[in-house]
Amino acid sequence: MIVLVVNCGSSSFKYQLLDMESGGGGGRLLCSGLVERIGEGQSPLAHKKYLPDGETRSVKLEEGCADHREAFRAVLAVLMHPDHGVIERVDEIKAVGHRVVQGGEAMRRACVVGEAEKAVIARLADMAPLHNPANLQGIEVAQAFCPRAPSVAVFDTEFYADMPAKAFRYAIPEKFYTDLGIRRYGFHGTSHKFVSRQAALTLGRPLKDLNLITCHLGNGCSLTAIQGGVGVDTSMGFTPLAGTIMGTRCGDVDPAVVPFLVSKGYAAAEVDRLLNKESGLKALCGLNDMRDVHSAKEKGDPKAQLAFEMLCYSIRRQIGALWACLGRVDALAFTAGIGENDPDVRRASLEGLESWGVLLDLEKNKIRSPEPRVISREESSVKALVVPTNEELEIARATMEVLEK
Ligand code: ADP
Repeated sequence: MIVLVVNCGSSSFKYQLLDMESGGGGGRLLCSGLVERIGEGQSPLAHKKYLPDGETRSVKLEEGCADHREAFRAVLAVLMHPDHGVIERVDEIKAVGHRVVQGGEAMRRACVVGEAEKAVIARLADMAPLHNPANLQGIEVAQAFCPRAPSVAVFDTEFYADMPAKAFRYAIPEKFYTDLGIRRYGFHGTSHKFVSRQAALTLGRPLKDLNLITCHLGNGCSLTAIQGGVGVDTSMGFTPLAGTIMGTRCGDVDPAVVPFLVSKGYAAAEVDRLLNKESGLKALCGLNDMRDVHSAKEKGDPKAQLAFEMLCYSIRRQIGALWACLGRVDALAFTAGIGENDPDVRRASLEGLESWGVLLDLEKNKIRSPEPRVISREESSVKALVVPTNEELEIARATMEVLEK
């Protein structure tokens, strides 16, 4: 069954077309791509087709997409293109799976999206203003162009639906929770879920028996404590601003910093931009891409060195906190752009945890591979793993599960 997975940002449209097996099986990737700069005049569309022999064919197109509707039209055209595409008719797409960032408490599980669900996603936009409106636009255009394919929403927050109240409540007056929904939600849930399943497969042990800490380290970074496949606590909070230091986000700071800045004349919107877009690695050394931080560090830039140390220290701090919450940890898994590709961050984040049973194999840690792998030593009582994430496959799987129910 052909499933289109859609992940819309405010000016971007990311997609994958997968041929999925039924019954929770795997899927074969047919095409993937990204339209960027929607609404900015010229919108580059980068498209990749995966051939059955393992080869890939890439094409870059220039489209003028004024909005997500035009982006979807351009994507359908390339999916049906005689050379670049893999389908002949739109109705070969049997379902569309959408990444939706904030599901709140109302949307605890992935679901087929009708008018009522769209209204909830729209209502939750105040908690995820950068994401939910764009996610909703993706749903609207998919329903317009693929009217016979159900649209399924898969929420970033869903993996945390069973987190206990002691982990998700904040100690602020209850009315802010009951009236405004202020609590810890957690994000990157599809990634943490995918990685936990892959980690169990890599270890050859049932997921239900495992206590895991998954570390999703990309532009945004989050760590999750997973007990028997259930996300029981996580580093991100009400929004994806909390937790470790990130590319441009501050991570945890004393909340009193906000009213203090306001008292100094900064407007709320300015503080929001400052903490989300001008903080993190970027604030510390002027660079937010980890590869650039390494280059600067190697040239002797002390700010880049401090940024690297602070990032790894903040990851270790979160590992320690989640470890204490779990009590026993069987394995730690690293994923996403930094987690999968940066042996230095992995090593420095685990530094000092030898006495806790994590014995990193320094050679295995350096090996580059697209495969899930163990990077701890044979005798390490707590395993360390690298597990490449695949959020789109997880969304396609969840879409199949919803439709098969
Ligand atoms: P997003 O959160 O936007 O999905 P990614 O998971 O793609 O982000 O991660 C982006 C981060 O991964 C960037 O900081 C980038 O520098 C980092 N990254 C990608 N490749 C490497 C690499 N080979 N070594 C170190 N960092 C890398």
